[in-house]
Amino acid sequence: MGEFTLELNEDQKQVRDWLHGFAADVMRPAAAEWDEREETPWPIIQEAAKLGIYSLDFYAQQFFDPTGLGIPMAMEELFWGDAGIALSIVGTGLAAVGVLANGTEEQIGTWVPQMYGDANDVKVAAFCSSEPDAGSDVASMRTRAVYDEAKDEWVLNGTKTWATNGGIANVHVVVAVVDPELGSKGHASFIVPPNTPGLSQGQKFQKHGIRASHTAEVVLEDVRVPGHCLLGGKEKLDDRLARAREKAKSGERVKNAAMATFEASRPAVGAMAVGTARAAYEVALDYAKTRVQFGRPIIENQGVAFQLADMATQIDAARLLVWRASWMATAGKPFTAAEGSMSKLYASEVAKTVTAQAIQILGGNGYTREYPVERMHRDAAIYTIFEGTSEIQRMVISRALAK
Ligand SMILES: Cc1cc2nc3c(=O)[nH]c(=O)nc-3n(C[C@H](O)[C@H](O)[C@H](O)COP(=O)(O)OP(=O)(O)OC[C@H]3O[C@@H](n4cnc5c(N)ncnc54)[C@H](O)[C@@H]3O)c2cc1C
Repeated sequence: MGEFTLELNEDQKQVRDWLHGFAADVMRPAAAEWDEREETPWPIIQEAAKLGIYSLDFYAQQFFDPTGLGIPMAMEELFWGDAGIALSIVGTGLAAVGVLANGTEEQIGTWVPQMYGDANDVKVAAFCSSEPDAGSDVASMRTRAVYDEAKDEWVLNGTKTWATNGGIANVHVVVAVVDPELGSKGHASFIVPPNTPGLSQGQKFQKHGIRASHTAEVVLEDVRVPGHCLLGGKEKLDDRLARAREKAKSGERVKNAAMATFEASRPAVGAMAVGTARAAYEVALDYAKTRVQFGRPIIENQGVAFQLADMATQIDAARLLVWRASWMATAGKPFTAAEGSMSKLYASEVAKTVTAQAIQILGGNGYTREYPVERMHRDAAIYTIFEGTSEIQRMVISRALAK
């Protein structure tokens, strides 16, 4: 490990500037339109694919950046551009991580490329875990996967909800119960290949923010997938279930692998929130310097300037928590004090307050759709909800403290 630094290296700066250019020139000008249309921005995903921003290669490169800062840096820039469009671009990556984390090499090689398609025919992927009665309480999941040994097929039945790209994805990753006795330890993840009969889109949700990102129910009715679609394979699953049964008998608490994965992915959501917060702060700063009332720019009033000072400080603090957690995850350091949750909790709350302050600083203009801050405020509200609500993050943090 080299000497301590918080500076991005030259390669990272180059990638950041390249992403910033795309965010400023392609995403920003299109943001209001796709927010109003509430549709997946396919032409922009395609443009990102042509440039190499929407690709497995790009995502993997950032994911395996040895400093750990590749993903948070990329997320911040893209979400600075526009949160709804950015989620349409990175949503596939979240499903891909599910396969990268649990799949065999063969499964990764087969399915992840199909999640992205190619620049002339882009595809998206969906990760389906939440259900109408199983949001924060993942253990209440009811979607069942039953093994049909004669055919070496798994049969999936249930209803998933709030799935980003659900129903429009080429590849769906579905979490289902294989052993109901074991609670969340009895879950497994499956690939549902393109055009599999029995999988259909239910309701598409109309949302408060990130409206360019498609969110829908996914209905699974006797969906049959080949045995090789079980992520990690049957042998590994059987071993894992046997261990969980033994531990359940002895009353020992078993570490939940899915929860550990979530904890590791939370800093990435924190980075998204930092991107939205920074975007709104910059608009507010610029406005405060140019808007004149009572004969001087409004920033010359301490009441406005102090708000901006707090906003800037909180954004930097959020980024530092995100970077720390991302660095820890890459360096293989366990989150003994729930540092991943801390970063997500703080950054998402900061995004909500900073975007609200930005509206205040823009006054009447801030409240209209002529200016982007009201959209950013609507977008920011998602960060305290998905990938574990703020209350769930506080539960994780306080449990770590109480240990
Ligand atoms: C736009 C969007 C995209 C999403 N994308 C995906 C996706 O791609 N894949 C996917 O699987 N899911 C996705 N989700 C689902 C998301 O992860 C859940 O909404 C989230 O986990 C919260 O679950 P819930 O909505 O059922 O809320 P609930 O769990 O019902 O919570 C309701 C409220 O109660 C609080 N609460 C619950 N339990 C406790 C407790 N023990 N102590 C204190 N407070 C508590 C919560 O914090 C919250 O404030 C998405 C959701 C949205 C809105």
